[in-house]
Amino acid sequence: MKLIDKFGRTIDYLRISVTDRCNLRCVYCMPEKGVENMPHDEILRYEEILKIVDVAISLGIKKIRITGGEPLVRKGIVQFLCELSQRKIDFSITTNGILLGDFADDLKKVGVRRINVSLDTLDELKFSEITRGGVLKKVTTGILKAKAAGINPIKINTVVLSDTNDEDIKNFIEFVKENGLVLRFIEHLPIVDNKKTNFAQFEQLFKLKYKPILTAIEGFGTGRYYKINGATVGFISALSRPFCQKCNRLRLTSDGKLLSCLSSLDVVDIKKAVRNFFSDDRIKNLFFEAVKNKPEKHTFESPRDCMNIKNMAEIGG
Ligand code: SAM
Ligand code: SF4
Repeated sequence: MKLIDKFGRTIDYLRISVTDRCNLRCVYCMPEKGVENMPHDEILRYEEILKIVDVAISLGIKKIRITGGEPLVRKGIVQFLCELSQRKIDFSITTNGILLGDFADDLKKVGVRRINVSLDTLDELKFSEITRGGVLKKVTTGILKAKAAGINPIKINTVVLSDTNDEDIKNFIEFVKENGLVLRFIEHLPIVDNKKTNFAQFEQLFKLKYKPILTAIEGFGTGRYYKINGATVGFISALSRPFCQKCNRLRLTSDGKLLSCLSSLDVVDIKKAVRNFFSDDRIKNLFFEAVKNKPEKHTFESPRDCMNIKNMAEIGG
């Protein structure tokens, strides 16, 4: 049986947060002092995640994204990804790239074929401010190492902030062109802060300035993609042009809760079922329960609208 919600959407994509811990403190994702980390025994063990993955696959999940917090800070992540790659499922990871240089070769070896790297500027000082102390060079070096290891595509996810400017855009276009990467501008969501950016205007100005060619790229589902001098640049606007109608996602938090939407208040606790060795059928029912409550669309207007999310790191973006 497949996972189909009451609006007829087939759910075949699972985002899994493997940790709530992170080695950065991005201004739009976490409060400055960080967040109180969950006790270790609240976090799903890898074997528990794999159990959930196996049930998910049996329900038609075809694609998995591993995220966090920062997935590369969790001990044993390479071995876990190795196990995942044996599942014959399309999977990838989202990372802030700080540790990518150390992991790139191993990731490739265990079967990671593509990754997303979050990077909001190529200006060192700005990067340090946005991430509250991150070192840009580590990320750019990590990206180049991943490229050299043969990971492809590498998509750069760039949250557009109020001070993302022409210089940032120009530098990014050069960077992705030179290194054969894909750039995706992401609309800021008001989860930690309520700073508004005019993403539609940002895209409009980009189009006026660069005269890019709109292009359809298979497998690049939720945004609009343009070609510009050989570079691919996408715009993902969950707020101003929501793609809820096409939403095929479920999320699994690091402490074992299934969420059908980032802004949903309904959570389904799947950890208890896995820890108590419930039958596969009972675990499947929890998936059906989560999908049954999937809202037609998200309700992101202010942080108040997503009170069950205190920070994106907890849930995985
Ligand atoms: N630490 C990893 C990273 O940064 O790539 C993975 C987890 S992070 C929560 C996943 C994605 O969520 C990142 O691309 C990040 O930029 C995005 N994100 C976090 N907070 C956001 C917000 N308020 N609005 C839009 N995207 C956000
Ligand atoms: Fe960490 Fe990623 Fe959140 Fe930045 S966006 S604080 S790197 S989890």
